[in-house]
Amino acid sequence: MKFDLNKVKRKSLDGIKPYSTARDEFKGDASVFLDANENPFNTEYNRYPDPSQEKLKATIAELNQVEPNQIILGNGSDEIIDLLFRAFCEPGVSNVIIPQPTYGMYSVSAAVNNIEVKQPSLDQNFQLDVAAVFKSIDPNTKLIFLCSPNNPSGNLLQEENVIQLLGSFNGIIVVDEAYIDFASSDGFLPSLSECPNLVVMQTFSKAWGLAGLRLGVGFASKEIVQLLNTIKPPYNINSVTQNIALATIQNEAQKIEQVSSIIIERELMSKKLSQFSFVRKIYPSDANFLLVKVINAQSCYDYLLSKGIIVRNRSSVIHCENCLRITIGTEKENEILIEMLKAYEESIIY
Ligand SMILES: *Cc1c(COP(=O)(O)O)cnc(C)c1O
Repeated sequence: MKFDLNKVKRKSLDGIKPYSTARDEFKGDASVFLDANENPFNTEYNRYPDPSQEKLKATIAELNQVEPNQIILGNGSDEIIDLLFRAFCEPGVSNVIIPQPTYGMYSVSAAVNNIEVKQPSLDQNFQLDVAAVFKSIDPNTKLIFLCSPNNPSGNLLQEENVIQLLGSFNGIIVVDEAYIDFASSDGFLPSLSECPNLVVMQTFSKAWGLAGLRLGVGFASKEIVQLLNTIKPPYNINSVTQNIALATIQNEAQKIEQVSSIIIERELMSKKLSQFSFVRKIYPSDANFLLVKVINAQSCYDYLLSKGIIVRNRSSVIHCENCLRITIGTEKENEILIEMLKAYEESIIY
């Protein structure tokens, strides 16, 4: 394989210059800021945020043993997904491969950007069918989206399959690791330096507990990161998000503790759920949710809803007929769910 970023990136980005912010044009120390038309009266937030997010990137880099220039931050992973489409795909010409079933946002972003989606199926165990993916690749294929652990199935993708694709595809492979903290794997960050066509996405929305702040992280070569930086909105990560994310990372111990308790609860819930007569199968999970196949997903969903408990019905998705996706909650919430399912079991007439 010969990966050439210049051949993969969108033509209109040749020679493009990023918006230069007032603060970009000045380096050094100053005490009087009359360059950005801000309101001078000091509230905590009268100044624009750091457009290059230097402190936060340095901290995330250290945490993940990468260089700060290998990091792009987004207003949620959603923004990074959209940046990838805009950096690499020509509307109406390029296509992307999204093995199904998986996270719906990749396809939405493809549609918004007028990009064709090829959708080979994952196999019955939600693993990559490498041959089917290879068959989908054509000269206009720019991106392949892989999600590991996968949403909604919860499993890690087999590493050798991903490595095989990385080594033979001339476009970009995106590995979405939103749930990697809950997994028994280090994921693909350790491969970053050897793989010029790899983008790893992580997020502060799941294990870090900051879904409301909107902070997604992309890891890639410094060349890819530079390209994405060129097209991102300059102030895409606001000051509150940058500050709270920094403070939260300082308290990593709390995250680690919460993740281990969620994993313990996940295993406990898997056992308890498997004992219900209406449960057909619990899929193995490396994430903070369980995919559960039941006899009648709609009736189970409706029953829970009537009791004020919301789960996700994934029945309409390939390989997920009569499957509910259940997030692992607190011990208390999980107990309530089990109690309600006991009542549901008693109410079913076969
Ligand atoms: C939840 C989730 C995300 C997180 O998206 P954010 O925009 O960062 O909140 C990303 N990918 C997958 C597969 C998810 O399930």
